[in-house]
Amino acid sequence: MSDAIVQTSPQRQPQARQVLSWAGWLTLFWLLLMHGAQAQVHPLETLPTEPLGRWMNILIESGPPLSIKEALQQQRQGAFQPGDSDVAKFGIAAKPVWLHLAVGNNQALPAKRRLEIEISWLDRIELYQVHGNQLVAQSIAGDANTAHRSPLAGLGYVFDLTLPPGRSDIFLRVATPDPLVVPVRLLDTAQAEALQLQYDYGYGVLYGFLLALIAYNAMLFIGLRERSYLDYTLYLGSFVLLHLGYTGHAYVWLWPQQTAFQQYAIPLLMVIFSCFGLRFASGFLNLRQHAPVARRLVHWQVTLGLILIFSTVAMQRQQDTVLVAFLFVLLFSVVMVWLGIITIRHGRIAGRYFLAAALTTMLGTSVTALAVWHGLPYTSISFHAAGWGVVIEGILLALALAYRMRQHQQARQQAEQLASTDPLTGLLNRRAFFEHAGPVWSTALRSNRHLSVLMADIDHFKEINDGYGHAMGDKVLAEISRLLAAACRSGDIAARWGGEEFVLLLPETDAAQACQLAERLRGEIECLKFGSAGQGFRLSASFGIAQLGDHESLDKLIHDADAWLYRAKQTGRNRVASNWQPSHA
Ligand code: GH3
Ligand code: MG
Ligand code: MG
Repeated sequence: MSDAIVQTSPQRQPQARQVLSWAGWLTLFWLLLMHGAQAQVHPLETLPTEPLGRWMNILIESGPPLSIKEALQQQRQGAFQPGDSDVAKFGIAAKPVWLHLAVGNNQALPAKRRLEIEISWLDRIELYQVHGNQLVAQSIAGDANTAHRSPLAGLGYVFDLTLPPGRSDIFLRVATPDPLVVPVRLLDTAQAEALQLQYDYGYGVLYGFLLALIAYNAMLFIGLRERSYLDYTLYLGSFVLLHLGYTGHAYVWLWPQQTAFQQYAIPLLMVIFSCFGLRFASGFLNLRQHAPVARRLVHWQVTLGLILIFSTVAMQRQQDTVLVAFLFVLLFSVVMVWLGIITIRHGRIAGRYFLAAALTTMLGTSVTALAVWHGLPYTSISFHAAGWGVVIEGILLALALAYRMRQHQQARQQAEQLASTDPLTGLLNRRAFFEHAGPVWSTALRSNRHLSVLMADIDHFKEINDGYGHAMGDKVLAEISRLLAAACRSGDIAARWGGEEFVLLLPETDAAQACQLAERLRGEIECLKFGSAGQGFRLSASFGIAQLGDHESLDKLIHDADAWLYRAKQTGRNRVASNWQPSHA
């Protein structure tokens, strides 16, 4: 709760003594009678809870600073202009402004009201309350001096006023080199509490979501060591700091009373946040590979932005710092969208998520920047657009990162598959055969189960290549592989052993059963027809079978089967040879 308005104190406000002098007040009284230039008095109960820009009158200070007495004089003379928007806005590096609000308390008792200005970065706000030609209260707030009243987290500057029955004139003088925007609300206790509740929930949801997203991406980085997650964590982290900065939370929670730092923190964080955003984009979109020129431009943009902002800070040119920061953020959002577009042009799907995300950020940050600076009306929605834009962006980028993860997984699976299969026939290659066969071999040995190896080799294959071309040879290999694969039961392992030689490992199969299978295959191959009608040809294959006996290793068993295959070739081809008697005979 903020304390009640400070009464004029001689030590802190020497000029107030002057203001209170009798002569001054008599002059005012005279002016009041002579000119009667009265601003419209708004009964308290008619005021809305929205900012009161249109209920107020405004005077831009053109010369040296006005005292309250002079401002009052000017007001009486009609120098104040009626406000033409809900929120008075004057841009960056504007001259100090005076705002005047005349309210009427039609009750018999004093009314308590809370005056709120939710912009935390304003350097100096002077508030004067005049009643019956008396200055009844005054207060100074702002973040440029520790002696001033500080903003409340998320609520900005809050002044508790006691308005006596009758007319009260409230004067505000606001001066800052930052964007000068003054949303003034005058609320009763219930309205103030309702607004505070709304803000508390809003900020709670926003920061809760962003912090969860930061934690999630930080975990992913720790677990996966993928740079994009770190960049994204830093980007979100700097945005949260920036948001805490401009909503006044940071000045209250993180760097209280550090007025010098507070003056530069917001523009600095605007640039740092944008730089982390560009760094994330550069890595995430893999600009190094896909758009090296764009990457270089982004690199220069970041370097230039950092040099400009830090040099203006070093030279203590606060207005230039603010200007650089606003221009940089606007440029940043345009560049993010541009990067999304060029990535899509390169046909990368991750670019679509990125573009959608970049568009929401661009929309959010530009709307907020233009709402407080120039160009767009300041409303609660436009002021908070950047925060919610980043929330939506967070969701889209989380999807994009997940999508990229899935792509990586698919690419890895594909690479693994390519490494283990023979591209022509789709069968396992020799290396993968041993990987798969190892456990089958161990199981057969341990449980003393049957296990057979079948080796097959196409007869006179070289002649097919020579007579019908290599492409026809490939077709034959693919067709025979299909036959072999189709003959396998689950648990059998088929592989291409070499050129036109194949191996089948058959668990739970003795030599007799393996010979039966080989005979069936031999018959099927014999029946195959290749080539065109006029130039058709048939072919055959030879088979060698070995059943697990006292073999020391799988190699030995295969070697045995190969020896029987050689025997089949030697004895005329197109046959099955094995250590199983009936077939052997
Ligand atoms: P045999 O009956 O004694 O086995 O005679 P063969 O002609 O079948 O055997 P040989 O080992 O003399 O010839 C095998 C041929 O297979 C030689 C090689 O050019 C061919 N070859 C190896 N791999 C491929 C391939 O992937 N595609 C094609 N089209 N031919 C291949
Ligand atoms: Mg400031
Ligand atoms: Mg052959």
